[in-house]
Amino acid sequence: KPSIVFDDVVFGYEPDRTILHGLSFEVPAGEAFAVVGPSGAGKSTLARLLFRFYDPQSGRILIDGQDISQVTQASLRASIGIVPQDSVLFNDTIGYNIGYGRDGATREEIEAAARGASLNSLVARLPKGFDTEVGERGLKLSGGEKQRVAIARTLVKNPPILVLDEATSALDTRTEQDILATLHRVAEHRTSLSIAHRLSTIADANRILVISEGRLVESGTHAQLLRRD
Ligand code: ADP
Ligand code: ADP
Repeated sequence: KPSIVFDDVVFGYEPDRTILHGLSFEVPAGEAFAVVGPSGAGKSTLARLLFRFYDPQSGRILIDGQDISQVTQASLRASIGIVPQDSVLFNDTIGYNIGYGRDGATREEIEAAARGASLNSLVARLPKGFDTEVGERGLKLSGGEKQRVAIARTLVKNPPILVLDEATSALDTRTEQDILATLHRVAEHRTSLSIAHRLSTIADANRILVISEGRLVESGTHAQLLRRD
């Protein structure tokens, strides 16, 4: 059963300017799909519709067969975890920043999430561990470390669906490779949708959807798309 369905979705931010022109695609449960396309194609817009920051003008979006306009904001938030491009951390402890994703997260759950995000070697080196303050007056984390905290924050919610919105595009190439390896592991056994503007960052996807100007223009595996280029 497909887990994420876009069914003829039409959307524009302003009434006279359509951004998504009847977008349709299906991501089967457990698959790792990616959406690529040039800047302005509508990739972030489709992610915003999935979270219901906006609703389509027409068409439907289904998660596990349910129209998302019919589910509560709370259950939508519980079913989708997002790793954004630039994660905002609070000026608080690492533990707080990870646990923030879920009310009442226990220390064990925070540690498990940190392990999943490969954060433990960093935390182990800190005298105060998870109680280390980060941010303006605390420890300055590198871009890659911040992304690991963001990944842990997502993992602590254990969401069945993962959306990676340009999750590595702000990082240098080597850090990007490290984080991609972590994300690949994290996406296993989940349904995932990675938004990217370069094919190189989504080589692991089961299927790649190429969108341009709010329309699906082709789809295929990484190898198929490279052959067609
Ligand atoms: P991508 O993520 O593929 O780069 P976006 O979904 O961000 O593309 O943008 C698609 C189009 O929608 C662009 O033309 C962009 O300028 C426009 N757009 C994005 N966000 C807004 C907004 N909040 N209000 C108006 N137009 C927007
Ligand atoms: P993201 O960083 O998630 O891709 P942004 O909201 O920063 O999304 O913007 C994506 C694109 O949409 C950018 O090209 C930006 O210029 C454009 N955009 C954002 N807000 C507006 C807006 N209110 N009106 C027109 N274009 C917008």
